Amino acid sequence: MAINSEVYLGLAPDLAAQNVTLVAVSKMKPAEDIMSMYDLGQRDFGENYVQELVEKEAVLPKDIRWHFIGHLQRNKVKYIVPFVHLVHGVDSEKLLKEIDKESAKQNKKTRVLLQMHIAQEETKFGLTEAELKNIDPAMYPNVEICGFMGMASASDKEAQVASEFDYLKNVFELFQKQHSGCSVLSMGMSGDYKLAIAHGSNMVRVGSLLFGRREYNA
Ligand SMILES: *Cc1c(COP(=O)(O)O)cnc(C)c1O
Repeated sequence: MAINSEVYLGLAPDLAAQNVTLVAVSKMKPAEDIMSMYDLGQRDFGENYVQELVEKEAVLPKDIRWHFIGHLQRNKVKYIVPFVHLVHGVDSEKLLKEIDKESAKQNKKTRVLLQMHIAQEETKFGLTEAELKNIDPAMYPNVEICGFMGMASASDKEAQVASEFDYLKNVFELFQKQHSGCSVLSMGMSGDYKLAIAHGSNMVRVGSLLFGRREYNA
């Protein structure tokens, strides 16, 4: 098991030069692989599962910035509030409320991204525009809404994926005009990060390209 060091060493400076934050998605990869990339200079890592994240956080260096990029259940919010750097997938007002409540309890301010539904697939999570309109950031004093996250259709139709990215960029820019402090646009993964950056992304979540394929055996 080894990380793709050469790919990382090519990609990291290239993204830095474009002011794009690279979140290395380490889900289902062992702590040793994270350490290998940490030793190459990487500090932003993304995880999808609360228990896995909590276990890794406990044994890895404290200057890692942990991004929670999965679907977050409300009853698990309390476990990540103590240390999480950014929660990407806030896809309901109920979840936002829970993060606010738990952050207040733990005397924290939690940074989040709102996840919009941009893909054609029914299964992808996210807010609709109508749901977004109902969200008043002032009602969540212990949460800082830093921007938006989206997952495009898993499609090789470039025009389709590009239009989904454009849509999210428009939502982001409109929100930015109304609310200060909103600066992050998280879109793009191993297969579509270049296209995402060309369409305005400033944070990409890249897993398999850096860590190799994930094995989903039980
Ligand atoms: C797994 C995952 C990624 C990384 O996917 P790759 O295709 O391996 O780069 C990015 N974002 C989210 C939300 C994910 O769940």
